[in-house]
Amino acid sequence: MSAPPVLHRAVLAACLLGSVVAGCARKADLVITGGMVWTGLSSGRAQPGAVAIGSGRILAVGDSAAVAPYIGSRTRVLAAGGGLVMPGFVDGHTHFIDGGFQLASIDLRTAATPQEFIRRIAEYAQHLKPGQWITGGDWDHTLWRGAPLPRKDWIDSVTPSNPVFVTRLDGHEALANSAAFRAAGVTKDTPTPPGGEILHDPRTGEPQGIVKDQALGLVERAIPAPAPAERDSALARALAHAAALGVTATAHMNASWADLASYRRMERARRMTLRVILYLPLEQWRDIADTIRRQGPGDDWVRIGGCKGFMDGSAGSRTAYFFQPYADSAGYYGLLRHPEASMRAWIGAADSAGLQVTVHAIGDRSNAILLSIYDSVARAHGGRDRRFRIEHAQHLRPEDIPAFGERGVIPSMQPYHAIDDGRWVEQRIGPERIRTTYAFRRLLDTGAKLAFGSDWTVAPLDPLLGVYAAVTRRTLDGKHPNGWVPEQKVTVAEALRAYTWGNAWATFNESKWGTLAPGNFADVVVLDRNLFLMPADSLDRARVRYTIVGGRIVFER
Ligand SMILES: [Zn+2]
Repeated sequence: MSAPPVLHRAVLAACLLGSVVAGCARKADLVITGGMVWTGLSSGRAQPGAVAIGSGRILAVGDSAAVAPYIGSRTRVLAAGGGLVMPGFVDGHTHFIDGGFQLASIDLRTAATPQEFIRRIAEYAQHLKPGQWITGGDWDHTLWRGAPLPRKDWIDSVTPSNPVFVTRLDGHEALANSAAFRAAGVTKDTPTPPGGEILHDPRTGEPQGIVKDQALGLVERAIPAPAPAERDSALARALAHAAALGVTATAHMNASWADLASYRRMERARRMTLRVILYLPLEQWRDIADTIRRQGPGDDWVRIGGCKGFMDGSAGSRTAYFFQPYADSAGYYGLLRHPEASMRAWIGAADSAGLQVTVHAIGDRSNAILLSIYDSVARAHGGRDRRFRIEHAQHLRPEDIPAFGERGVIPSMQPYHAIDDGRWVEQRIGPERIRTTYAFRRLLDTGAKLAFGSDWTVAPLDPLLGVYAAVTRRTLDGKHPNGWVPEQKVTVAEALRAYTWGNAWATFNESKWGTLAPGNFADVVVLDRNLFLMPADSLDRARVRYTIVGGRIVFER
């Protein structure tokens, strides 16, 4: 009499393990069939196959015969139509909520004339309450005949009660209207801050609207911080944008506590459709460590990953720090944002507190200094799986490249920047140094675990643009059809791996997601075609058909 229940228990246990026992295959909630499956577990190409998903996880991956037993009466079956089925894209470096604000801000990037610039601002202002600011914009006056810089008197009459502070697309210049100057207390007597410029009307001496570099802060400090509800709507917009692009997780760099609170509200409302790992400012390592000690780091939707610092600036503004002077600026090497000793102290303290550390480094000298700080901290504090990261790792001396593989320092890089900067960076640093700029190939060949991302809002979020950029290295101006520094190209599989598993590793999540391994969270993207069979120069034309996060379809086309 006791035999049947025992047997029943054994069968039930087998079912829970997801294995197939006669008469009992665990049924899937979702099965994707007819696709070319790339699991991310090997460097191979995609194979015809199917994926079964249940309770938010990958149950099985195999050919259609292997997956068929998982299809039950309540299983939804998605036809992939020969498209690529792969782990969801993970963006290793975004300013994610800023992206949501950018999506809703005024678009001046494509305003082709001053008249159109004025018209768009006037129209945007009509939908605002008095006192609401107009920011963002990304205007580009080089598109206009004679390239005149805009002036506040162009827009004052259409924005009498809304402060306007719209930036040029490089972020180094902005136009304020009279209401914005009033709100900020900027008058003709306001002194120009060091490293900045305020353009004045030669006749009246009044500010004429344009402020540059450090002078942007004079107006920025008057812009009210967004209310929590506004931050939440920006996050909601960013989530929808990411889902449409197949992005299922991201590392949010330079996150604020207000950002963290917004993610947690969204999670409580069960509206998160992407996993986020936040990196808060390095200087706040003590608060970050205290918060983790009190509340824990978070969960698989919203988690504090560690802290993020800055070594230097950017090559575009000549603030990236190099061993040799800039080629177009004699005797100028760039600069460190903080003294080396401060960086060493902060990184050491954060590491002692058990935090993961990542730091922005662009120039070859700031990368070399950072590698040496990481090395000395690791030696002083002893063996631990700490996974130091470098954000951008953009310009490297050839002799510094092997350190990434040997010491497990993760280069977190943005391929789209390569095809953007590739237009002009050789003028800045000359023909020799560019050979190891965005050195994807050399880094992989010397054993580095590469993590790819976009740096959204600085570049578009679309990971397929990143894959295209890494594989082709064709600059945006079309001047390098065979690739800019082509010896640093990578393959499609390598680019996809850096956009999936590489970021799982870089955030300590490789046992949970980043590959289609059975048991992992079912974070899956289905593309409309197979990237492995497309000509490299059209990789960015593939489109996302389904985005699935934790087994739930969060986007379908
Ligand atoms: Zn960034």
